[in-house]
Amino acid sequence: MNAEIQNLLRCPCDPKVPVEKREDGFVCTRCEVIFPIREQIPCFLIHEATLPDGIRRIENLPCRKEQKAAN
Ligand SMILES: [Zn+2]
Repeated sequence: MNAEIQNLLRCPCDPKVPVEKREDGFVCTRCEVIFPIREQIPCFLIHEATLPDGIRRIENLPCRKEQKAAN
């Protein structure tokens, strides 16, 4: 995947928030959820993602909370 496309990728919880490429996958720069890369294809399904330490529920992610507040 080239860098230009990577720069366009956003957290699926909040389209304003970019993700960052790391060794273990793509990480949301705000909620720090890790989206895995499987067979070179990034998986941006929130239910497949690894939640950051201290957050057990998807509803508690900063990006999710922000979205709810905006609606
Ligand atoms: Zn996020």
